[in-house]
Amino acid sequence: AASIRLESLTKRYPGQTEPAVDNLTMDIPAGEIVVLVGPSGSGKTTSLKMINRIIEPTSGRIFIDGEDVTHVNADQLRRRIGYVIQQIGLFPHMTIAENIGMVPRLLGWNRTRISERVDELLDLVGMEPSAYRTRYPKQLSGGQRQRVGVARAMSADPPLLLMDEPFGAIDPITRERLQNEFLRLQSNIRKTIVFVTHDIDEAIKLGDRIAILNKRSKIAQYDTPEAILT
Ligand code: ADP
Ligand code: ADP
Repeated sequence: AASIRLESLTKRYPGQTEPAVDNLTMDIPAGEIVVLVGPSGSGKTTSLKMINRIIEPTSGRIFIDGEDVTHVNADQLRRRIGYVIQQIGLFPHMTIAENIGMVPRLLGWNRTRISERVDELLDLVGMEPSAYRTRYPKQLSGGQRQRVGVARAMSADPPLLLMDEPFGAIDPITRERLQNEFLRLQSNIRKTIVFVTHDIDEAIKLGDRIAILNKRSKIAQYDTPEAILT
């Protein structure tokens, strides 16, 4: 796992008068789940996208394990960071195994290593490999697709995971099950995870630390769930 530091991170989209993220500074310790919670439009997604450089910050710096990565090659950075979003976007014409093995294949792993890794990840997210390897995304439930998305993000074993409302579009009962499995998974893998949600209950349940953003993209509070609840 790796630590992250965001230093005075600011994003102004062209044509917007207010910055989407305004001078955000925070330290994310290695091996913890840090949850960004806040109302719609408070800059949560924009913050995640700056960390993996889907978008460029207007100003400020990003450090991973103390190394300034603000200007390193974005492709290189993404190999170190797994990204899970609400609209998982599995490739419909690829099997589950092909979806999960996509990044390792791009990295040139051999077939045996890829297929071992796919099975290991399916086990990890609680899906029997022999039953799911050769299925297609549309043959899975929403909850299962979400798990495949998590497995795919972890395929190349990145030290960091960024998760943007990964359980947002799922029914409450399945969501609760996935949250519990996610916590169990994290107790084994101990990644550094930045997790975005607008649901304060989810934040309190999952976060080792919680950053509460207000409407103007300012951190109103950054603390453990226990401290936030008292
Ligand atoms: P959140 O994830 O907390 O809902 P976002 O990061 O998506 O917030 O958005 C923060 C602000 O930036 C909002 O005011 C939103 O309208 C604006 N915004 C987001 N993406 C873009 C974009 N591509 N172009 C212009 N404005 C954007
Ligand atoms: P979940 O609780 O994870 O949302 P569901 O109750 O939706 O699961 O699905 C139960 C089972 O039905 C799962 O094992 C899933 O693989 C299977 N299933 C769901 N949709 C389809 C489909 N279109 N074709 C084949 N199997 C399906």
